[in-house]
Amino acid sequence: MRRDTLDAVSPNVPADLASLELAQLEDFVESLGHRRFHARQIYRWIWQKGAADTAGMTDLPRDLRDTLAAQAAVRSPRVVRRDRSEDGTEKFVLRLQDGRQIESVFIPDTPSQTFCISTQVGCAMGCAFCLTGQMGLLRNLTAGEIAGQVRVLARELDMLQVPFNIVLMGMGEPLHNYDETMKALRMLADPIGLGLSPRRVTLSTVGLVPMLDRLSAEPLMPNLAVSLHATTEAQRAAIVPTTRKYSLHDILDACRRFPLAKRSRITFEYVLLQGVNDRAEDARRLARLLSGIKGKVNLIPLNATPGIPFDRPSDERIDQFARILAEKSIAVSVRKSRGRDIRAACGQLIVEGQGRRSPAQQLAEAL
Ligand code: SAH
Ligand code: SF4
Repeated sequence: MRRDTLDAVSPNVPADLASLELAQLEDFVESLGHRRFHARQIYRWIWQKGAADTAGMTDLPRDLRDTLAAQAAVRSPRVVRRDRSEDGTEKFVLRLQDGRQIESVFIPDTPSQTFCISTQVGCAMGCAFCLTGQMGLLRNLTAGEIAGQVRVLARELDMLQVPFNIVLMGMGEPLHNYDETMKALRMLADPIGLGLSPRRVTLSTVGLVPMLDRLSAEPLMPNLAVSLHATTEAQRAAIVPTTRKYSLHDILDACRRFPLAKRSRITFEYVLLQGVNDRAEDARRLARLLSGIKGKVNLIPLNATPGIPFDRPSDERIDQFARILAEKSIAVSVRKSRGRDIRAACGQLIVEGQGRRSPAQQLAEAL
């Protein structure tokens, strides 16, 4: 077996078939003394039919099925709670193998069907307006757990055969869990499985510059969304602590050199906080900063929540900000908040009661 497969399967614990890429699964099947092509059948069962165990994989030889029953498992995050909003948005609380909990959200008809997926339990980046940031980082998700959210949601919603988009905008900073996130995207993209094209995936990041450069060389390139939120270094440092290490200036430079497919643009996310970054001069400065970059702006009026020391600007203020950008020929949209009544909206994802270390200490370690 290759080294990466050996890392993924340990002799003492049943191998988790749902955390292996197809090539790793082929190695594993071969290591059991069977033909490699059976891996394709297993992959199909897991990723196209949503199989939750090996018992029902009826087209496999009997002895392979018996071996798998003894030595392998198909691990899936378990749905412990499912809430449906008035607007059709559904929030899933999922329990992982070690008891940790994460949240994933289904957002219907935007106009596409979209799954908002988590990449970490909590987040170490500590943005001042984000509840997940207040949790601190509890741990990274594995590729199996990241891709597993998609499989579980598609199965629960009966959407295994329906096209959908993925946004990596749930809990966590995807570029702070780079390798597992990329492996999950490869697992989801495999045509033997869900065949999810990277064009249907949007990765949202706070802007970890070295990782942005690494992303720019990936063969499977998701769409990129960068959380900007401010127009001066001081303003950004006050609400996004990572700015102290990766300046606004450096992030925008990384965006300028980021290779974009034809007709594709970087989305710049901008959370609007009343009296902090929502003035006309902020809008004008944002337009200037973005000139010459193939980008569009997605304004996200703050989802105000107890514990977050900011307010949402008025609708007039939001409209004025958007109008100024549009007048400067910047493509702009205002994100409609979905699922607020079930706390499924941006920045509201937190699973209470999961003890944590100090977020400030974690940020220091992460940077
Ligand atoms: N860590 C990544 C992706 C997860 S956060 C990132 O920061 O980009 C996804 C989006 O939700 C980000 O743009 C983030 O700034 C936004 N967000 C966080 N808290 C929010 C809040 N309280 N209201 C509105 N948007 C919020
Ligand atoms: Fe982490 Fe993103 Fe929240 Fe910032 S906004 S704390 S990077 S999840």
